[in-house]
Formats: sequence, C-alpha cells, structure tokens
Amino acid sequence: MNKRIAPHKLNFDTGWAYSPAPESIDHVHIKDQYKLFIGGKFVAPKAGKYFNTINPANEKVLARVAQAGATDVDRAVNAARGAYDNIWSKMKPAERGKYIYRIARIIQERAREFAVIESVDGGKPIREARDVDIPLAAAHFFYYAGWADKLNYAFPCRTPQSLGVAGQIIPWNFPLLMAAWKIAPALACGNTVVLKPAETTPLTALKLAEVIEAADLPPGVVNILTGDGSTGAAIVNHDDVNKIAFTGSTNVGRIIQHALAGTDKKYTLELGGKAANIIFADAAIDQAVEGVVNAIFFNQGHVCCAGSRLLVQESVADEVVFKLKERMQTLIVGDPLDKNTDIGAINSAAQLERINAYLDLGQEEGAEMFQCGGKNPDKGYWCQPTLFTNVAQSHRVVREEIFGPVLAIQTFRTLDEAVAKANNTQYGLSGGIWTDKGAKIFNVGAKIRAGVIWANTFNKFDPTSPFGGYKESGVGREGGMHGLSAYLDLH
Ligand code: ADP
Repeated sequence: MNKRIAPHKLNFDTGWAYSPAPESIDHVHIKDQYKLFIGGKFVAPKAGKYFNTINPANEKVLARVAQAGATDVDRAVNAARGAYDNIWSKMKPAERGKYIYRIARIIQERAREFAVIESVDGGKPIREARDVDIPLAAAHFFYYAGWADKLNYAFPCRTPQSLGVAGQIIPWNFPLLMAAWKIAPALACGNTVVLKPAETTPLTALKLAEVIEAADLPPGVVNILTGDGSTGAAIVNHDDVNKIAFTGSTNVGRIIQHALAGTDKKYTLELGGKAANIIFADAAIDQAVEGVVNAIFFNQGHVCCAGSRLLVQESVADEVVFKLKERMQTLIVGDPLDKNTDIGAINSAAQLERINAYLDLGQEEGAEMFQCGGKNPDKGYWCQPTLFTNVAQSHRVVREEIFGPVLAIQTFRTLDEAVAKANNTQYGLSGGIWTDKGAKIFNVGAKIRAGVIWANTFNKFDPTSPFGGYKESGVGREGGMHGLSAYLDLH
C-alpha cells in the first residue's frame, strides 16, 4: 500500500471551466448528397438508394450518401481493371509517383476542411483530427509516392510485380488515415483500387475522391464506393479482385478469411486488439499516467491498438490509480469541434449501446467502476472515461475489445507475471512498457506477442513504421516497406 497519497482525498472541483474555443466551419463544404466515385466520375447508384450520415455529437444529418449494390461494385471493379490494364500498370513508376505526390499536396492544402469533416462525421475531437489524422494521411501519400520508382531497391534481387485490382474496406475510427494507409501503397506499387469507407464515416473518403479528381488521376485508378457490409462483401467476393485489404472487427475479418479461402486473392487483415500497457515501479509515473490517458481515453478509445488493459506493478498501483483518477477529472468530454475537448462523441448509437452493455457487464462481474460523473451534452452519443478496478483475468471487460474509453486495471508483482498477463489474450496488436530501464524494455518487448510495442509512449504512428497483428489481431503488415510487399508479387 502506498502511503504517500490517500486515495479518498479526491476533490477536484475547481469551479471554473475553459471558455468555448470552437473551430471555424465557414470554409467547409459538405454537399447534401454524394454519389459513387467510379471511373473518375461521380455516378448515381444503380438501385437509386441513399442513406444518411449523421453528426454523432448532435444527431443531425450531414449528408445523404449512395448505397452501392453488387452492380455498382461490378462497375467499379471493371473501371479499376480497365485503368490497370491500359494505363496504370504501363505507366513509368516515376510518373505514378508524381500523381501520388499531388494527392499528398492537395490533402495538405485542404487539411483544415478535412479535419473539420472528420470531426463532425466521426465525433473525434478536432484537435486529434487536425494534429494526427490529416497530417498523417498526407504523410502516408508523401512516403509511398517516394517508393513508386524505387521498388527494385526495396526488394533487391527480386522482381516486384503489381497485383492488379485491390479491394479495400475500412472502418470508422480513422477514416481518412485508413484510406491513405490503403490507397497510397497500392498505387505506388502499380495497383488500382476500389475502396469502401465505413457506413458511419463516408465523408472524408468522398472528399478524397474530389482530391483524386483534382489531382487528375487517370479515370478508374481509384474508385470509391459508399455502402454497408453487403457492399464490402460484394467487393470481397468479386472474381476480378486480386487483393483484399481489410481493417475492422475480428468477426468480419473471420468472415472475409472464410470467403477468401481457396481463392488466389492475396489479403491483409487488421483486426481487433486488447493491448496491455505495463507500468513498472521504476517508471516516471506522471508521464506514464499521461501515456495511459493518451492510450485509452483520447479518440474515445476508438482505436484498435488502444491500451485498454493497464497492468501496474503492485508497489505503485495506488499512486497510479490515484493520479489517473485525478487526471480523469480534468478531461473535457463534449463538442468535438471545440479545441479544448479531449473526448468527443461516440461514433454511433450502436457503438454507444455496445459500450454501455460492457459497463453493465463489468459491474455484474464484480468489478469496481469509476467515472468522474461529468454531465453529457443533451443530444448525441457520449461516454465518460471509465476505469474498472478489482478485475480478474477471466472478466469479459478484461478479455474483450470494448472500443470505448474504458480501462481495466490489474496489478502484477514480477516481470514474468506482467508478461504472462499481457500475453493472456486472443489478440496481439500492440502493447506499451513504462520503465526507466532500457534493458527491461528490450527484455519485456521481446516477450510480448504483439505487432507494435511502444516504450515510454503510446499510440505513436509514422508512415515508415510497419503495423499489424499476431493471433486474432490480423494477418500481414501495413506501413513502411512491409506495407509495399502486401501489394506486390515478389518473384
Ligand atoms: P466495426 O465493428 O468496427 O464497425 P466492422 O468490421 O463491422 O467494424 O466494419 C468495418 C468495415 O467492414 C466497414 O466498412 C463495414 O461496412 C465492412 N463490413 C461489414 N461487414 C462486412 C462483410 N461481411 N464483408 C465485408 N465488409 C464488411
């Protein structure tokens, strides 16, 4: 028991609040209705169906977007095939690179507009959309543009060949960034693309279609289809698609893996996670606490690599929990467009329902739940940051991906126990280690079965760095040079 701080003395009611600092939206243009982007043009869906995309912070309709059916998928794949056979695969790689650079530059020029749209369509705080999502998306296009004419250097003594048409299906947590992760390496390697954004966050992908138009890409090189899971399934099952890249839930990943079994389609899957963030007693505790907040509360915990399990060495557990609770009192939950906001809106009513079901379940399982009791806005979907203590390894809130701002805290005594607990999961996407001993970082890092391990930081991304999972967290790697090989046949 740590005697330095008495956990019962929590009193953080400072009685003051920040003045609102809303991001300006004058420069943002969202159309009332969006069609499908096929063969370089916006075209109506064959069946004439549209659905609403809403702002999860106020439940207002932002726009109507097209629901692509199987015929539209067929049209898009044909357009991508034509562009691949006749133009893109024959183009000099350096020329392909110029187009990709152009996309990167236009995203940078329109970064503020992209950031606002990402925030209103998905619910994420503008600070994060502005500082993370959009700059990183542009950085991915810049990075892969540079590789377009250097593939032979990336894979010496091999003959890198493009695959053909890539079908790409992305989730709602980082809409533009996920589109960039998928489109940029595919194009750099000489493939053409049919991309489907998630149904709740289609707007930045449609804006990206406008960028692709403005960048004068040959028609059909990138096609963007909005729609639901049935659209995704039609892309996966289309005979003329050569590669599937999917990011989303482990359940849908399994369905896709079944569908692709026995075909010659290449695939990469980036699925769920339940990352352990491990704090050793020798860590810089204040920094570690801030890292934990960043790992699970920012972006509403809508991050597949979120540090949703915290493992704390027993001797500092009280101090960490106390400081975490103290920090949680200062987190601002509310209007995503306010630059002071730390935690925005939950992406959809369905996701909020799912998170709330886990909050009930955790308590039924006997865990102790802590929330700060802040007031949620009247409209929209909100979840206050939540801690579960007194949890066991068998509890579902410890084992299952919640995808919300919900942290389960466990303690450990020895390094081996920390490693065993961290690895006791069906997932293996990411992990974090907090210690002031470099040797411990290497020792523990090598023992944790996860694709990315952060040391004394968390959720840091860079286009040069590969990302992907072990076990049920997925197959293959995206990002860096590894991300190139996912879009190439390497003889
Ligand atoms: P989440 O649970 O995070 O919403 P999903 O895995 O359901 O994640 O969705 C991720 C993406 O996969 C979305 O674009 C969604 O429309 C798409 N999708 C859903 N079901 C299928 C399916 N059976 N086949 C292909 N794509 C699908």
